[in-house]
Amino acid sequence: MESVVNIVWRIKLKIVVLVKQVPATDHVKMDEETGTMIRDGVASEVNSLDLYAIEEAVRIKEKLGDGVEITVISMGPKKAVEAVKSAIALGCDKGYVLNDKKFAGSDTWSTAYALSAGIKSLVGDFDMVLCGERATDGETGQVGPEVGAYLDIPVLTYVSKIEQIHEGKLIAQRAIEGGHERVETRMPVLVSVVKEINDPRMPNFKGKMKAKNAEIPLVTAEDIHADETKLGLKGSPTRVVKIFRPRVTRKGRVVSAKDDPEGAVNGLMGFFKDKGMI
Ligand SMILES: Cc1cc2nc3c(=O)[nH]c(=O)nc-3n(C[C@H](O)[C@H](O)[C@H](O)COP(=O)(O)OP(=O)(O)OC[C@H]3O[C@@H](n4cnc5c(N)ncnc54)[C@H](O)[C@@H]3O)c2cc1C
Repeated sequence: MESVVNIVWRIKLKIVVLVKQVPATDHVKMDEETGTMIRDGVASEVNSLDLYAIEEAVRIKEKLGDGVEITVISMGPKKAVEAVKSAIALGCDKGYVLNDKKFAGSDTWSTAYALSAGIKSLVGDFDMVLCGERATDGETGQVGPEVGAYLDIPVLTYVSKIEQIHEGKLIAQRAIEGGHERVETRMPVLVSVVKEINDPRMPNFKGKMKAKNAEIPLVTAEDIHADETKLGLKGSPTRVVKIFRPRVTRKGRVVSAKDDPEGAVNGLMGFFKDKGMI
């Protein structure tokens, strides 16, 4: 027979999924003067790795029942509402966008502060925060663990499988170099996931309709009682000091087959031999 504790867990489990809206991958452009990403007028999409976090949350809900509530939180411009709606179309329950000029210019530490303040204020007691391993634009992979630090909870990174959620504990597998590591932790916990964890689904018609009708509140710094000194550029301990494209310093060797194909082939073979490649 199932233990009472297990039943309690089945009835109440609050999951938060962090979703970032990023420029569509073929639209990423940098402003080399300011060191920031050009986001205005650029097509955007849900950070692809966050789709795996969304899918995992929805699978947990499907397994443990309707008592599981999934809240999506994104910090970004007003159009990040689209990203939150995409998550709702895939099976999440509700969502918020942290949107305020005071958040602008936040580095990862400041972003993590705002997201953690949002979680505390909008969700209250929660059991699990799921996020992607990294965002395809900023790509630091810092935000998840930093949110965990602000919330003062255990952090499991590179999670490739959630095996069990039971009696306030979570057992998971982490992808590590050369294999996998099986770990157990108490909850609440922050989990960042890797692609191996699942195959994200496509939204169905019911999901799309739910997303269309969903109200996604825009939430200000004041709404989440955030300490303004920790927000935006002023609250950011890091600065992008320079951004540049790597320069190719090697001159290379040009071999033309135009007038002397045989000589070109011999030249190339000699080059490969010199390098010990053949
Ligand atoms: C000095 C400075 C100024 C900056 N100014 C700006 C700015 O004005 N505007 C701007 O957009 N960016 C700005 N950035 C970049 C911004 O800090 C990062 O985009 C952001 O902190 C996320 O970092 P990342 O992309 O490396 O995410 P990662 O750490 O790689 O993301 C890991 C996971 O965390 C979650 N996550 C990350 N960011 C968010 C989010 N915003 N909402 C919800 N979940 C999230 C997602 O689940 C994601 O998969 C600035 C950076 C610096 C250093």
